Amino acid sequence: MRQPLIAGNWKMNGTRSSAEALIKGVLEGAEKLGKAEIAICPPFPFLEAGERLVANSSVRLGGQNVCTEASGAYTGEVSAAMLAEFGCSYVICGHSERREYYGETDAIVAKKLAIVVENGMKPILCVGETLDQREQGKTQEVIAQQIDAVIAQNGIASFAELEIAYEPIWAIGTGKTATPEQAQEVHDFIRQRIAGQDQAIGAKVRILYGGSMKPGNASDLLSQPDIDGGLIGGAALAAEDFLAICRAGE
Ligand code: PEP
Repeated sequence: MRQPLIAGNWKMNGTRSSAEALIKGVLEGAEKLGKAEIAICPPFPFLEAGERLVANSSVRLGGQNVCTEASGAYTGEVSAAMLAEFGCSYVICGHSERREYYGETDAIVAKKLAIVVENGMKPILCVGETLDQREQGKTQEVIAQQIDAVIAQNGIASFAELEIAYEPIWAIGTGKTATPEQAQEVHDFIRQRIAGQDQAIGAKVRILYGGSMKPGNASDLLSQPDIDGGLIGGAALAAEDFLAICRAGE
């Protein structure tokens, strides 16, 4: 069976002291959990504190983004090797905010996935449709294109080394959550798309749901057969909410 993964995406929030307090709060509660794997993805400047505080715990650390290149004259970027050196196990790649505000294409996202794996970490590949695309009945077409672009560039075997997060853009930070049935339908579609190329990889790949997941809706979403965890934005900024979602994943 696939172990649930609950990952917190803190986005660009917090201060050094609030980040440390949040990490400590998550650690305290995480000790009482057993089944779900828990990861936190703070902003880059707080990774050093994250590495220090989560050491010797089961909580994993992740980056929110990474440069496509290994090193060199890329002002403002952060390399995969740097993230690995600061203890990251996961890196979020192709979040819709990166795709929308920073022009990340499927080709750029595929390069990021590859360099994360080369550096010994696991990418969390984000895919999802806009409200407009959903209303036009194009959800599956959009998701298929995002998945197929990675298969074309990195090969189907690359899906054995990554996690997927289905994040309907209309549900991110809006308070509107996909219903468990809507989410399950897309998760099943993603799994079938991958299984169509490689049955074993399709059965094994974890597909997280992201988009206004909260303590109140987490267990209904996480009980769906193809929802293997959550990528949590707003609710990851309060330890008790994040831990309640983690408990729902147990
Ligand atoms: C996200 O940005 O990955 C996310 C799921 O955000 P929220 O939970 O706030 O909708």
